[in-house]
Amino acid sequence: MNAFQKLGLDADLLKAIEDMGFETPSEVQEKSIPILLEQETDLVSLAQTGTGKTAAFGFPLIQKIDSNSKKTQALILSPTRELCLQITNELKNYSKYKKSLNVVAVYGGASITDQARAIERGAQIIVATPGRMQDMIRRRMANISSIGYCVLDEADEMLNMGFYEDIKSILSHTPQEKKTWLFSATMPKEVAKIAKKFMTNPVEITVGSKNMGTSNVSHEWYLVNHRNRYDALKRLADANPDIFSVIFCRTKRDTQKVAEKLIEDGYNAAALHGDLSQNQRDLVMKSFRSRQIQMLVATDVAARGIDVDDITHVINYQLPDEIETYTHRSGRTGRAGKNGVSMVIISKSEVRKIRTIEKIIQQKFEEKQIPDGKEICKTQLFHLANDIKKTEINHDIDPYLPTINEALEDFTKEELIKKFFSVEFTRFFNYYQKAPDLNSESAGGRPQVSEGNTRYFINVGSKDGYDWKSLKDFLTEELNLDRDDVFKVDCKASFSFFNTDEKHTDLILKTFTEYKQNGRFVNVEVTKDQQSGRGGGGRKRERGGGGGGRRNSKSFDDNKGGKFSGRRRSEKRDDKGPRKGSRNKNIENSIKRRRSKA
Ligand code: ADP
Ligand code: MG
Repeated sequence: MNAFQKLGLDADLLKAIEDMGFETPSEVQEKSIPILLEQETDLVSLAQTGTGKTAAFGFPLIQKIDSNSKKTQALILSPTRELCLQITNELKNYSKYKKSLNVVAVYGGASITDQARAIERGAQIIVATPGRMQDMIRRRMANISSIGYCVLDEADEMLNMGFYEDIKSILSHTPQEKKTWLFSATMPKEVAKIAKKFMTNPVEITVGSKNMGTSNVSHEWYLVNHRNRYDALKRLADANPDIFSVIFCRTKRDTQKVAEKLIEDGYNAAALHGDLSQNQRDLVMKSFRSRQIQMLVATDVAARGIDVDDITHVINYQLPDEIETYTHRSGRTGRAGKNGVSMVIISKSEVRKIRTIEKIIQQKFEEKQIPDGKEICKTQLFHLANDIKKTEINHDIDPYLPTINEALEDFTKEELIKKFFSVEFTRFFNYYQKAPDLNSESAGGRPQVSEGNTRYFINVGSKDGYDWKSLKDFLTEELNLDRDDVFKVDCKASFSFFNTDEKHTDLILKTFTEYKQNGRFVNVEVTKDQQSGRGGGGRKRERGGGGGGRRNSKSFDDNKGGKFSGRRRSEKRDDKGPRKGSRNKNIENSIKRRRSKA
């Protein structure tokens, strides 16, 4: 008797499980499946990301469905389209020997009539995102009035995304006596509230200690000045040449910005966020899965559906607003028994958050130093040497060898190696030779207490929804400054004032040239009178002609040329970065162009 059989699963499922190659049930499966099979009960099941929760509810659900009836018998709600599709696919795999069982996915961004038609043909299980499900109910395209089971998957994330009201409304269309199974990685107050409000005496299962992070993930933090964040990110990537990573930013705008910079600096990067069309998102994910993209810069919401198993690093470019979200982020790596690293780049004011996270994940962080130029060069050289060692010889070059040998005949092996590595490496060396130490304690003797005696006028205020705090957040984020760099934020109705050190003035004026927010220009000017006064009163700046297009959006076609043409191109832009030139594969220009500014 195999271990799955012991849980009480039927022959059709066992065959499918064997096909999938699952050998032993995971802990959450072991604990949930027998209960769900044997009892008609509500259930709350908490387990980390990547522990096999889909099968924990999927197996028993499939076994309990009467596939002779075409009625909709179960509804699974999940936060994103990607996850919805992923669950649907998994369930289809599990039920492949149950011929008359139909699972239909219902999600936004695709034809609602097609989905309605699929349901009409008979969908015993509907897997849906809350928004689209609401639509379907409203338009009477789905009937969930006699379902026996409702699964809330990734409940914490659904609530994070503001789906509480949708869930509540959807549940009101389901029968009182149905059973509700809630699965979640974490148990914040909101989830507890749902459990209390919509469930009756649920059985509770917790795998590992509550909210524990995945244990084969190690956690590291790097302390840098806010404005060095991006350079620190590059170093972390350069110090890990085989990196295959997700980089988390807090906003769509930052996500786009960081991805664009990485692309310009020659990394295989792309952005994933909600402002991309579905097609663009699919394209990005496809490139990521096939490793054409090594660094996927994503928002939390967009990254929910990422089910890629071999991610080596998660990099928190910024910490999430909700500390609980950190677990989801770090859970993207260390999946399927592999090891992973979750790195956090933080500035001084955030250090205490690390302690909070440590408590939540019940794991210690290691404080690490951003590697210096020397270390990175060493790693890269070693990596190159290894690559050479592993490279299979291409015999198509044999006919050219006599000429090549002739050209190089005067050199010894040592000299040849040196020359070869120099070809590949001079740029890297040059870049990193001048590179400063980015670690915060030693960040170039920056005065800790700054006077901040330049006062600025900005033409936004409380009418635009700001208060001093949110305006300060906006400014520090947009300017890439530390929170301690912006002071005396005074928010009036339609304009505000703030102070910084004089050294930031250029940056600030430059940033807010042609800067638009919600279609309106945001102006910043230095005030003459340091205490008050409206300065020039929001003088309009000259705008570049045409509008719309971005000045520096470069076409991906630039990068077609492969290694050598790539290097030539980048040699002209020596200040740009250490990379040999763009290794970007040719992904649609539009992905990069789309930019959220709102
Ligand atoms: P979660 O929902 O907890 O984040 P998933 O259900 O997405 O996790 O499962 C993570 C991965 O583990 C998937 O690729 C899944 O196919 C695989 N998996 C699930 N259960 C098992 C098992 N018992 N043995 C091997 N792999 C499994
Ligand atoms: Mg899941």
